Amino acid sequence: MAVNKISSLLGEATKNFKSDAAQRKAAAESPHSIILHTNDVKGEYDSGRALTTTLGGINRPITRDDLETFRQNIKTVQKVFKGGIKARQVLDMSLEIDRKRARTEIRMAVPISAKNGMVRFATNAGPDSKAARHHVNVEFLSFGAGAASGRDTAQKMANWVRKQPLKFDCDCGRHKFWFRYISTIGDFNAGRPETGFPKIRNPGLHGVACKHVLRVMAEVEASGIVLGFLTKLIGKAQDDDNARAVHKTTVKEAEALAKQQDKRTRDIKTTDTRAQAREAAKQRKALSEAAKPVPVPKKATASTRRNASQAAPKKASINTSSLTPGQIAMAKQFGMTPEQVMALIAA
Ligand SMILES: [Zn+2]
Repeated sequence: MAVNKISSLLGEATKNFKSDAAQRKAAAESPHSIILHTNDVKGEYDSGRALTTTLGGINRPITRDDLETFRQNIKTVQKVFKGGIKARQVLDMSLEIDRKRARTEIRMAVPISAKNGMVRFATNAGPDSKAARHHVNVEFLSFGAGAASGRDTAQKMANWVRKQPLKFDCDCGRHKFWFRYISTIGDFNAGRPETGFPKIRNPGLHGVACKHVLRVMAEVEASGIVLGFLTKLIGKAQDDDNARAVHKTTVKEAEALAKQQDKRTRDIKTTDTRAQAREAAKQRKALSEAAKPVPVPKKATASTRRNASQAAPKKASINTSSLTPGQIAMAKQFGMTPEQVMALIAA
């Protein structure tokens, strides 16, 4: 992504968040408003409004029972997110579809500017988006405490701050229609609060964050770029002796950071899948050690290489009859089929 002047990027972010707030206000004030307000969910809903929900899979008029289900879903969210949310939890509580989009579509998330603990990130937009990029705001709730504390270096405090609870906001439609309500009632919303229940898009209140936020959270949790940015910010706050700081990335820096990120994709994993990945790697290792692979000729000729590359993607052609008794025993031990064993050996 070409990074324009930082000030124009920031202007774009402000404009997006402002126009969203104005649209929301107009929608609420309209006599034909379809927003399901807090009081409606509480039980004051007038069924004459004939609002609909997709709860249960089809779009149909809202009933009293639905309101009760909505209240239950709200309770669940508020119970889960008691005490704020950390970057790791955002990744853990996200939906697989959003993680997949973050992995495959979002190639950069660069911190652009910060005022105290509120840091603005710019990300690229997905391939189907009308927007050129998206803006994600992250409020680090322990910034003040980290900046005021003289117990450690700015870098160590920055590393601590990024692992503490935070709030966030994104200017994309997915966040607006699916997740902003959840972040509002879960108390981790860093922007305009949303009090209208997502009765059509997300009545089950599943997930927490869009692909842009997920990519940003992966950076917050693990990247040296974010650590460096927060270190500078905290260093400034410590120098000023008032735990307040403003910091902006220069255009040159932002371009360099975007380029750096573009070179390698960041995997977006939950704690569970990370553990599963470790387990799978362990199993693969055990299998490849136990199974004696068919010896490969030392020098592959051009034609054998070609044959190998042609044969590889054809899963159906995997020959499981050549499994050794050791391999079959391993397959049994790991509850796998001979095909799965062959696929692992071939991988
Ligand atoms: Zn987003």
